[in-house]
Amino acid sequence: MRVLVTGAAGFLGSHLVDRFLALGYDVLGMDNHVTGNPNNLAHLSAHGRFRFANQDVTRYIEVEGPVDGVLHFASPASPVDYLELPIQTLKVGALGTHKALGLAMAKHARFLLASTSEVYGDPLVHPQPESYWGNVNPVGPRGVYDEAKRFAEALTMAYQRYHRLDTRIARIFNTYGPRMRPRDGRVVSNFIVQSLRGEPLTVYGDGSQTRSFCYVDDLIDGIVRLFERGSADPTNLGNPHEFTVRQLAERVLELTGSKSKIVERPLPVDDPQVRQPDIRRARETLGWEPSVTLEEGLGRTIEYFRQVVTQEAAATS
Ligand code: NAD
Ligand code: UDP
Repeated sequence: MRVLVTGAAGFLGSHLVDRFLALGYDVLGMDNHVTGNPNNLAHLSAHGRFRFANQDVTRYIEVEGPVDGVLHFASPASPVDYLELPIQTLKVGALGTHKALGLAMAKHARFLLASTSEVYGDPLVHPQPESYWGNVNPVGPRGVYDEAKRFAEALTMAYQRYHRLDTRIARIFNTYGPRMRPRDGRVVSNFIVQSLRGEPLTVYGDGSQTRSFCYVDDLIDGIVRLFERGSADPTNLGNPHEFTVRQLAERVLELTGSKSKIVERPLPVDDPQVRQPDIRRARETLGWEPSVTLEEGLGRTIEYFRQVVTQEAAATS
């Protein structure tokens, strides 16, 4: 079995590549490094079953030989990234998904879309089941990401219904872990790096907004199960353990032993007030649920960022 992973040099893509290789698949990774990091795949440079193609997936994708699965993970994912790259974000969600679906059709391959909890916008239903249609502002700054992913879901369903393509849609909720970029702007990487550097932790708004964070290993386990034995119905994948952003800041301070202060900064426009996945479908159809606690996951992530911060400090001294 051979799979193509787009966005392979990114945080989730690189972990997915590792998991498929460990399961015995041949893997072709594709990325243009717009928000990814080649170091995330450096350990695979001599791997016999891994190949990498530096390519923008909004352009025609040509792959020689058989492909049994296409997992479309290419897209800026941090709000800071997609607000800086609004057009690229819309293009990779729309044109990139179209090209990836086209390749899947040509190769008679299974297709999996990395969608997001952002399709629910600032939700009026809590927790969010897959049946909820969402509350998205199409013309707000986050609309570039939310609407691109909503379009990508609609296109995936059209290929499934019209072309009978074998498809999956993973609605991924906030996921964290090693290989996030230290300055990608997402809350877990920000708080850990700020704590380790002794800088203030920047809580946006009063920090009463909630999120539910999933450790990367659990998420990747859910993706592989969905790919191998799921159905075309959109499936939430995330950890239902919900807490406020301020609680997260306090937990990170405790676990790093940092003396940093917490400071408040303006809340970004349209920042969802609450977010928690209803994972009943994943539990029932995939037998999946997350098992890594926040403490364990943060511990492993802090260990990773400690090395990154130490290396950066050594490089600048
Ligand atoms: P990331 O930014 O680390 O990785 C995305 C990768 O896609 C990067 O390596 C980037 O260079 C690549 N990419 C972007 N546009 C491209 C293009 N046109 N051509 C080729 N490569 C391109 O982000 P991530 O957290 O790993 O997210 C991966 C996927 O999962 C995204 O589709 C994202 O929307 C989805 N997702 C992630 C989360 C999360 O919490 N991490 C939550 C919901 C959804
Ligand atoms: N956030 C914060 N401080 C930061 C970065 C983010 O308080 O330094 C908040 C952000 O406003 C949001 C939550 O943390 O309410 C999660 O933000 P993230 O960028 O990780 O992802 P989102 O869930 O918004 O896509």
